[in-house]
This record gives sequence, C-alpha cells and structure tokens, in this order.
Amino acid sequence: MENTTTKKTDVLVIGGGSAGYSAAIRAAQMGAGVVLIEKDKIGGTCLNYGCVPSKFLWHSAKLLKEAKKMVEYGLNIELKGFDFPKNTEKRNRVIDTLVRGIRSVLDSWGIETIKGSARFLAPKQIEVAKDDGSKIRIDASKVIIAAGSSPRGVPGLEIDHKKFIDSTDALSLKEIPKSLLIIGGGSIGVEFAYYFSVFGARVTLFECEKCILPREDNEFSSEIKKMLEFEGVKVFEGGDVPGTLLEQAELVLVAIGRKPNIESLGLKAGGIEFSKAGIKTDAFLKTTEPDTFACGDVLGKWNLAYTAQAEGVCAGENALGKKNTVDYSCIPKVYFSDTMLASTGACAEEGASVGRYTMMANSVAHIRGEKKGFVKILSDNYTGRIIGGKIVGSNASDMISQLSAAIKNKLCVSDLTRELFFHPSLSEAIFEAGEDNHKKCVHTPREKLK
Ligand SMILES: Cc1cc2nc3c(=O)[nH]c(=O)nc-3n(C[C@H](O)[C@H](O)[C@H](O)COP(=O)(O)OP(=O)(O)OC[C@H]3O[C@@H](n4cnc5c(N)ncnc54)[C@H](O)[C@@H]3O)c2cc1C
Repeated sequence: MENTTTKKTDVLVIGGGSAGYSAAIRAAQMGAGVVLIEKDKIGGTCLNYGCVPSKFLWHSAKLLKEAKKMVEYGLNIELKGFDFPKNTEKRNRVIDTLVRGIRSVLDSWGIETIKGSARFLAPKQIEVAKDDGSKIRIDASKVIIAAGSSPRGVPGLEIDHKKFIDSTDALSLKEIPKSLLIIGGGSIGVEFAYYFSVFGARVTLFECEKCILPREDNEFSSEIKKMLEFEGVKVFEGGDVPGTLLEQAELVLVAIGRKPNIESLGLKAGGIEFSKAGIKTDAFLKTTEPDTFACGDVLGKWNLAYTAQAEGVCAGENALGKKNTVDYSCIPKVYFSDTMLASTGACAEEGASVGRYTMMANSVAHIRGEKKGFVKILSDNYTGRIIGGKIVGSNASDMISQLSAAIKNKLCVSDLTRELFFHPSLSEAIFEAGEDNHKKCVHTPREKLK
C-alpha cells in the first residue's frame, strides 16, 4: 500500500479517446463528478494515431496533385518538391491544437484527468499505476470502459517496428520509403497505399481475400482498385503473400485490422465478461457488472470514431440512469483514395429504384477539375422511401450524412427533391440523383427511343 493514495468518484472513465472523452463530458454535463484515466494521450487513436494524421496525409497527397494542376488555372507557381519533415511538423501542430481543444473542454466541465494505466482490483474499484511509480486506488459508483483498440498482427509475421510496421509506425515515419508492401486491403490499407504512392514510394497492396475492400460491395472495390493502379500501386488479390514480395520491400505495413485493448484491464476482477472479440454489453452498453459500461473500439464492433463517440455519449447518459441505445441502422462509411467513396444504408439494387447522376455534369466538379464520381440514390419501389445511397467524388464524406438523415427520417425521394440545393455546389448532384430516381432529371439527356 506504500505509495498508494485513495479517492472516490461518481463516474470513472478508462481511456481518453473518442469514446472515453465523450462519455466523460456527457456524464459531467449531467452533473456527475468524473475522473478520466488515460495512459497515453488524450484524444486516443483518432486524434493521435488514426483519423486526423491519416486524413492529413491524404489531404497533403491531394494538395500535391492539385499543385501540379495549378498551371492550368494560370497560377504559375513552381513546385519545388515535397518536404516530408515540414509536412510532419504541420501535421503535429494540427494534432496538438485539436488535442488541446479536447483538453480544454474536459477542464471546462471540471473533469479530473489522470495520466496512468488503469486496471480493476474488484468491481467498481480501480487501481491506476502512474509513470512515477505511484498508485491511486479509486472507488467509483459507475465505471465506463473505453480502452480502445490496437493494430492486429498477422500470425507468423512479427511486427518488429523496423521493417515490419503497423499503422502507428507508418504515421511516424521520418522519410518516405522507396518501396512499401501493404498487407491488408481494408479501409486503412487502401488509403496508405494511395498517399505513399503519391509521395513517391513504390507501393504494393496485398489483400488475401478475393478483392480489396472485401466487406464493401464490388462497385467500390473495383473503383478503388482502378484509382490505385492509375497511381502506380500494384494490387494483388487472393491467396498468401508471396515470400518474394516480403523480401523485396523496404518496409512492410501490416494493416489487417484492430484488436480490442482488453488484456491489461483486469476485467475478471471487475466482474466483466469478455471474449477475444471484445467486451460483452447489452443494448444499453451495460457490461455483465451492473454499474460498469463499455463503449467504442473495446467492444470490437465498428472501429470507427463516430460510432465510438455516439456510444460514449450513450454510456455516459446510461451510467447516470438513462436507458438510451445507439442506432446502428445507417452508418455512413467512407473510403479514401484519389477521391472519396461513401455509402450509407442498403447497397443491393434488386427490387429498388435507382437514380444516378454523374459528377461530370456538376458545375463545381468542373470548376475544381475533379470530375470523377457520381451520386446514386436507391429508393423502395413501393413506398418511394430512400433506402440507400452512394457518393463518389470530392467532399463525399461531408455529403453522405444528408442521405443517412433522409433514410433514418423515412423520407421519400420526392421529399428530398423538394429541397433547394445551393448552386453551384457538389450537393446538387444529390438533388439530381433524386430527380433521376423518377427519370425526371432536367440535366440528363432523354433516353434514346427504341
Ligand atoms: C490509421 C487509422 C485511420 C483511421 N481513420 C478513421 C477515420 O477516418 N474515421 C473514423 O471514424 N475512424 C477512423 N479510425 C478508427 C478510429 O480512430 C477509432 O475507431 C477510434 O479512435 C476509437 O475510439 P476509442 O475511444 O474507442 O478508442 P481509442 O481512440 O483507441 O482510445 C482508447 C484510449 O484508451 C487508452 N487506454 C487503453 N487502455 C488503458 C488503460 N488500461 N488505462 C488507461 N488508459 C488506457 C489508450 O491509450 C487510448 O488513448 C482510424 C484508425 C486508424 C488506426
């Protein structure tokens, strides 16, 4: 007990990522005293090792490509190359600013943050091991576990963080490798393949299933494959990684998914059931211990920052007596390559009306010189309700939630097309795809009479 202090709190949150800080803030907004334990960095994977740094690199690759187009716009700017260390400096500044933002929100709600590693000693009793060797034992009325996830390795292939690296290592490279083999053609693998190829690496992407993005529908897999091959990425699909590829690559990035951080939490002592896949909860995010909740990647379900945030808010509310659930019926998904590919709701076109509009006919796409892509809206043949949609093109990540909101609110295509969409805007393509659903789009030529 030497060097151990004790304290009590209403709500204790383990993990300061998207799920954890959201849970902590919501619980504090509802009047609870909250302690948040984070062993590494506030902001978790999303801000420090995931969404933000990866999309910064994606944006940098897009800028690099746009810079080469400047001359077409009469901007006679000479491109003198790509200074990767400077790019990294800017990336770190962006991350720092965002992390400071989250810290200040936590402080503003009076949340006590403690840097240290948390583990259960008993149900609702947590020990925090701090970096200086001291320990704090905390008794909490409610506990929320938001310990996140870590990169998963390939059996038989050790991540040595030198030649064999994970996504966290890839985001801290000091220079662009000459050649990079990426194992795993999921969302993370395809975006790393895109930007490292634009930055000048010889990239090979390997997916053991029959196509990249194996869990998306074929339209996206083949679109992304075309875009990557256009950038010079070699894509291999199906089977085992050939040994020669492993030998020849300067770096091998293993990007085959994530595993929940459950090992060091002492979950058994906390009375919490779990499996290798993640912590078990009911629909209210309550674990098998009635006063303990769990949210985010540690559940091993979606591995997305926005579902983690929604679950964090829900867990924070339920820890204070609410009975809320998260609606997973319509999760927008976005993939990043030379453009963005976004989908929501149903993908199967059988039994649905399909409206489609090409970005080639959209004014902003022309102004920007980014004419790749389309909007597709699926509606139910009988009710006319919107049931799914896809958007391929720049800013698809900003636009897709319009379709998710329409689906969740049970809107028909005619409700959508009654709206006025600003002109010129990329969103107009949503309106036009809606009009095309009834074959009434004024910007689409009449089909030839047979
Ligand atoms: C390269 C990459 C790109 C991504 N891009 C996107 C994207 O564009 N959009 C998107 O939605 N998602 C993206 N994700 C996924 C997203 O980052 C995660 O889904 C999200 O961060 C999960 O949030 P979380 O709070 O559940 O977990 P985390 O963010 O992992 O936070 C968990 C925190 O708990 C801490 N912790 C763990 N154990 C303990 C302990 N015992 N004691 C104290 N603290 C502990 C960890 O240090 C960590 O900070 C990406 C991920 C990666 C790797």
